[in-house]
Amino acid sequence: MAQPWIKMGKPASTRHHRRRWVTCSLCLALLFQGDIVARANGPGEDLQPVSLQLLWYHQFQSAGYYAAQAQGFYRDAGFDVEIRHGGYDNQGAALDPVEEVIFERADFGVSRSDLLIHHSRGAPVTVVANIMQRSPLIFLTLKRYGFDRLEAIGNRPVSLTLPTNNPDKRLSAETVAAMRKANIDIRTLNNSPPSWHLDDLLSGRTQLTTAYSTDEPYFLRRYGATPVAISPADYGIDFYGDTLFTHQQLAEHQPERVAAFRDASIRGWEYALEHPEAVAELILQHYGTRHPRYDEAFLVHEAAQIRELMQPNLIEIGYMNPQRWRSIANVYKDLGLINQADVSALLFTPDIPDYTRLWRWLVPVSIVLLLVLMAASYLHIVNRRLTLEIARRRQAEMALRIQAEKDGLTGIDNRRLFDEHMQREVSRARRHRLPLSLILFDVDSFKAVNDEHGHLVGDRVLKDITRVTSQVLRTSDLFARYGGEEFAVILPETPLDEAWQVAERIRCINREHPIPLDDGTLHYSLSLGVAELTLDDVSVQAFFGRADAQLYRAKAAGRDCLLPRIAS
Ligand code: GH3
Ligand code: MG
Ligand code: MG
Repeated sequence: MAQPWIKMGKPASTRHHRRRWVTCSLCLALLFQGDIVARANGPGEDLQPVSLQLLWYHQFQSAGYYAAQAQGFYRDAGFDVEIRHGGYDNQGAALDPVEEVIFERADFGVSRSDLLIHHSRGAPVTVVANIMQRSPLIFLTLKRYGFDRLEAIGNRPVSLTLPTNNPDKRLSAETVAAMRKANIDIRTLNNSPPSWHLDDLLSGRTQLTTAYSTDEPYFLRRYGATPVAISPADYGIDFYGDTLFTHQQLAEHQPERVAAFRDASIRGWEYALEHPEAVAELILQHYGTRHPRYDEAFLVHEAAQIRELMQPNLIEIGYMNPQRWRSIANVYKDLGLINQADVSALLFTPDIPDYTRLWRWLVPVSIVLLLVLMAASYLHIVNRRLTLEIARRRQAEMALRIQAEKDGLTGIDNRRLFDEHMQREVSRARRHRLPLSLILFDVDSFKAVNDEHGHLVGDRVLKDITRVTSQVLRTSDLFARYGGEEFAVILPETPLDEAWQVAERIRCINREHPIPLDDGTLHYSLSLGVAELTLDDVSVQAFFGRADAQLYRAKAAGRDCLLPRIAS
């Protein structure tokens, strides 16, 4: 016999061990969803013994549990399950799963809607899963007895499980309820308890008996009779069929394990419905069946009937509908079988966080996040490369522009930019009627500098001229090297007088700025020409030409000078 899970007075070591086991399992289950933990359990490794009391003998009616056992679903969930047949024991006494569970002789049981009656009378039972959505119980008669309604029973001999005559408490509620709905007073029936032998029906000893839709009609047909089934559902009694239940204490104290057993059982049922032949074979091989005539053909037929009762295509296996339980409770109440029933307390609705679902979400969400992250990183890298490339190109462009517009030796504007500025400033001065002057200057006898000191010194002189000259210019003045040793300064908004003074300052500061050499000092001088833009200047070239002419005159006048204004 399996040890019940919760018992007073269990040895401390076992309790501690179990508590530790449950805690560890729980922690790991939280991390890896039970399944993986269960797989870690090798054969015989710390499995928890569990007993399941079936309602009836071994046949397809309990196929899901055998399948869960054979496929290792119970082992995976950490259980070592003993599946016990129902029906009657060796002494012929009816085995009542409710009694087995509430007296802790079994951990789980299979029962029907009658559980509600037991529950309302204080039996500590909790429904874990509704396996069969419809009850297999039917009233069975034969065509030759000529009736197909309960109302037509009259004084015919019947064999029904009724509370009036029945030590077997299992099936009475549905029968009584249907009779009531058919307005039949059960006390008036010509009833004897069912023997469960079809001979009684075939011989006419009885003309109506309670039976399972899954079993008896099949065998009656085999014997050549024509069965007629009257279903309680025809009278509005639509109860649940086989239902997995447990002890209330177990459901309250170890909901995770109860849920694990339930889930493994449901997996077993899914397997059994998908592989009816294989499970029929399993039942024949490993579970002693009640009747020698239970063969594979019957079990496969039963499988189809069970499928009808379970309706797996419409309703999730194990689904419990509280509303339907309430309706059943109302029927029982109408029949006076119960006073009040708290359906919510009957059903197993543990508050266990569903990490499986979380896990199912977590994996795809993580993958999507990872992909997004990878795409973002890729874009970031591409973007960085683009930014760097843009910066590199900008620098290159800038260098090109400088190359194109600045003089390589001195760093001031070159001829090209000077020409542009001249065009622009001349237009601006004309448009706004502003004065504009131009200074041109040329290094005197520069050829001799090169010849005497070399080109490098000549270059140094040109650079010094640039640096020194810039000191006397305003920020608005545009300084350019427009020829070898020829320079120009455009002076916007500057009349000739002021320009002349600037030119003179340029001449003086350069003259007073000798260049120290290894072997002495190098003095140099400039000749300058100045002109102010006049209305007579028909072109930029004319304006430039006048300044150039002044420069030429200064050269002619002996160099190191600019001609007085009056001379221009
Ligand atoms: P003048 O007083 O009549 O202007 O005499 P000059 O020798 O300066 O006249 P010329 O125009 O004959 O000579 C100019 C010289 O300037 C010729 C050339 O070798 C030199 N020169 C032109 N550009 C550069 C340069 O970039 N570096 C150096 N070192 N010399 C240059
Ligand atoms: Mg020259
Ligand atoms: Mg010169």
